[in-house]
Amino acid sequence: MSVLENLNRVRRRIDAAAGRAGRNPEEIKLVAVTKTVAVETIREVLSGGVCCLGESRVQEFLQKYGQLPAGVEWHFIGHLQTNKVKKIIGKVSLIHSLDRWSLAEALSRAACEAGTAARVLVQVNIAGEKTKYGLLPSETPQFVAEAARLPGLEVMGLMTIAPWCENAEEVRPVFRQLKELAGKLTGLEGVKMDYLSMGMSGDFEVAVEEGANIVRVGSAIFGGRS
Ligand SMILES: *Cc1c(COP(=O)(O)O)cnc(C)c1O
Repeated sequence: MSVLENLNRVRRRIDAAAGRAGRNPEEIKLVAVTKTVAVETIREVLSGGVCCLGESRVQEFLQKYGQLPAGVEWHFIGHLQTNKVKKIIGKVSLIHSLDRWSLAEALSRAACEAGTAARVLVQVNIAGEKTKYGLLPSETPQFVAEAARLPGLEVMGLMTIAPWCENAEEVRPVFRQLKELAGKLTGLEGVKMDYLSMGMSGDFEVAVEEGANIVRVGSAIFGGRS
């Protein structure tokens, strides 16, 4: 299966999932997750109409950023160290992984210094897994309200990584809870809840059925990472 065939299959599956939920598939943004993927292969999916690429490591992102066309919409999806914030501000259109207060402050400071705004999603650890980053659901409302008051920081929504499960049906409640949490935060001053980033290769259809409008898909397009 070629990368473009995989891409088209993923798109058809997104469309079908949206259809099952009575949603317009055009409101769902596909972020192709390109970590470990070679630049030539990334060019192929760009030629196939992908506009958004997701990277999770700063160094790898910067390398690819320098080699790929200026029109690409970059999404930073990985855990971000505060001392690397400056390197990506102004280059990425959305940071999905605001997961702690020190990072909120660093992003605010860097955005103000650069005379720009950092658009972010707050990462929520819905299942409370010890191995994952993110705010607990109970901490999220206060965190979001306070982050929204920082200058230069635009809170645009929420992101979660569901626990890995053989059967994606099992993580449906996780996606449902993120959607509910976003509903509770809608209307907080200075907070936009425009984006729900949830769903990866193993579970994006269930995420779309539960209201995701950004899905982050890597291996279903590019094959397994070794
Ligand atoms: C790697 C990664 C993905 C994509 O994972 P796949 O299972 O390959 O689709 C999505 N989101 C985050 C945060 C990732 O690190």
